[in-house]
Amino acid sequence: MRCVIIHYHEVALKGRNRSFFEQRLVHNLRMAVRDVGGKQVDALQGRIRVMLSPDASWPLVRDRIARVFGIANFSLAQSAPFGDDTPHLLDPLKHAIGAAISNLAFNTFRVSAKRSDKRFPLTSMDVEREIGAHVCEVTGKSVNLRHPDLTVHIETLIKDAYYFMGREEGPGGLPVGTSGTVACLLSGGIDSPVAAFRLMKRGCTAIFIHFHGRPYVSRASEEKVRELAALLTRYQFQSRLYLVPFGDIQRQIVVEAPSAFRIVLYRRMMIRIAEELARRERCWALVTGDSLGQVASQTAENLSVVEEAAGLPLLRPLIGMDKVEITEQAQRIGTFETSIEPDQDCCRLFVPPHPSTRTDIDPIRKIEHGFDLIALVKQGLDAAELVDLAFPTS
Ligand code: ATP
Ligand code: MG
Repeated sequence: MRCVIIHYHEVALKGRNRSFFEQRLVHNLRMAVRDVGGKQVDALQGRIRVMLSPDASWPLVRDRIARVFGIANFSLAQSAPFGDDTPHLLDPLKHAIGAAISNLAFNTFRVSAKRSDKRFPLTSMDVEREIGAHVCEVTGKSVNLRHPDLTVHIETLIKDAYYFMGREEGPGGLPVGTSGTVACLLSGGIDSPVAAFRLMKRGCTAIFIHFHGRPYVSRASEEKVRELAALLTRYQFQSRLYLVPFGDIQRQIVVEAPSAFRIVLYRRMMIRIAEELARRERCWALVTGDSLGQVASQTAENLSVVEEAAGLPLLRPLIGMDKVEITEQAQRIGTFETSIEPDQDCCRLFVPPHPSTRTDIDPIRKIEHGFDLIALVKQGLDAAELVDLAFPTS
């Protein structure tokens, strides 16, 4: 029977939390393969097995599993039963491997066996020797332990054995849903989707919040952010995206405040509104794509003044990365092409020619004293629109 054998990082998943992580990983895998022929997903003695229907396409399944965080590596495998009595225990496995291997092109090989349960009477070495001898016999090929053309992997469990010839890299990280929920401020640029991705990879479920400039700009930034959120949903299967109209709030700030402080004031308003949404969604942190010194709003001073408006922890996973590194990540994740499409970001609306790069908190507090902050936050919350996203979409 065809299946996928999945290995996770033992170190991250060990200890008392193991079954919690394992169950979450099983759940995420079920979501990932449910429409591409994944049948049953089970945790079995330190690995996870996904059974495949006969018509399942391996490239499709592989593509899905490669995006499930928490996986170290995975393989397309076959199962074989054990024989009835001790001398013939490995006979069915031997014959299955002999038949499977005779179609493959290779000159040298090795067998690498793992015993998951010490109650199984044969050691890994016993299995390697017996299967290796059989492969030599049926193919005439020779063993090379150091640099084989082909490695036959065998895992003996208590009821049956699994064998596979190839191994795919997993994405690493922790299963989404094991590190709580965070609220990611998604702008439509290159950086913020990467920031969200990094937290998702550490096991967080992300909700997304976007501030758009309507009614003063077109829908372009919203459409882009919907697309980015959909791309990120491939890693967590379900997402919530809040779209918050920000143009009128910005206009009120423009009327009241000296132009040099506008950007910092916009950001502090975004943080306050995002924080209310985050609390509703039981998030433990806010996440932004800031990187130190990248633009005027991201100087050390301005980052500090923006953070001062936050009550929840404000996470900035890209803070020490430069644009080249962030861009490379965006390309790997698959968000870059969407991020560079032209739009009308609300932050470019009412932007001053000379923003302050070394903002001090005192004048900011004084200016905000003149605002009705509670009413401005309420205005954003009341107008926020919620979009639910799912992957796969069917
Ligand atoms: P990005 O590429 O993520 O847009 P950036 O280099 O353009 O980042 P800024 O525009 O200064 O940087 O934004 C810094 C961070 O503030 C963004 O990464 C994002 O988390 C948040 N942010 C900025 N504008 C918005 C917005 N319109 N809606 C939601 N979050 C925003
Ligand atoms: Mg931006």
